[in-house]
Amino acid sequence: MDKPLILVSNDDGYDAPGCVALATALSEFADVVVVAPEREQSAKSHAITLSSPLRHRVVAENVHAIGGTPVDCVYVALFHGELLPRRPDLVASGINHGPNLGMDIHYSGTVAAAREGAMRGVPAIAFSSLARDVVPAAPIAAELCRRMLAAVMPEGQPALLNVNFPRGEIAGVRATRLGHRHYAEGVDVRTDPRGREYFWIGGPGGVEHGGVEGSDTQAVDAGYASVTPLSIESTLTAHLGLAAYVAGDGTADESPGDP
Ligand code: MN
Repeated sequence: MDKPLILVSNDDGYDAPGCVALATALSEFADVVVVAPEREQSAKSHAITLSSPLRHRVVAENVHAIGGTPVDCVYVALFHGELLPRRPDLVASGINHGPNLGMDIHYSGTVAAAREGAMRGVPAIAFSSLARDVVPAAPIAAELCRRMLAAVMPEGQPALLNVNFPRGEIAGVRATRLGHRHYAEGVDVRTDPRGREYFWIGGPGGVEHGGVEGSDTQAVDAGYASVTPLSIESTLTAHLGLAAYVAGDGTADESPGDP
């Protein structure tokens, strides 16, 4: 039987240790092609480059660096037609240096690379780690990819899984939902050497996890890796009544907030 083909991308750059380690671990059982950003693209979310050139560099056999975002990389890999020998069976993104827990997924380039695969019909999985050294998690990440390839896929939207590895020893792996992760927000106002004001956002650091039962934040805090299934279907069905009221199209006759 032919080996599966796995497209590896990330947001830390093609040469990031987590990307190299993931690709190496996956090579044990799969054909692997890396198409990843030339430079770090963390927190670029689902950005796509539409108005500037995307440079392409062949780094090595089956390793491509693209001068764009994580989503650019997956898009080019899937639609250029010459980077991959066939349609991939899986998109694996990471292993990101740093967590992508709870609301982090909306900012994450790591998750976006995987989401782009899923949006294009390819099952996808994103890996992030809270550990200082993300490399030791690579064999476990590869095993999770192997299990995902062996799984019977649910009907409907293509599968998109978000994995986070804890700091330190990995006690096990748990299926989770997204938790709550609160950063100490802040806008630092500083002055540049020419006397002009600038902002530095993101606060002074520090983060708290809400106590959501069965969540990714709870799992990694307890030393477990988390596996969270994500939706690419964003409609909030519970708010269709609000939408109808705001639309004023006659399908709602009172505010959903009215008693
Ligand atoms: Mn990153």
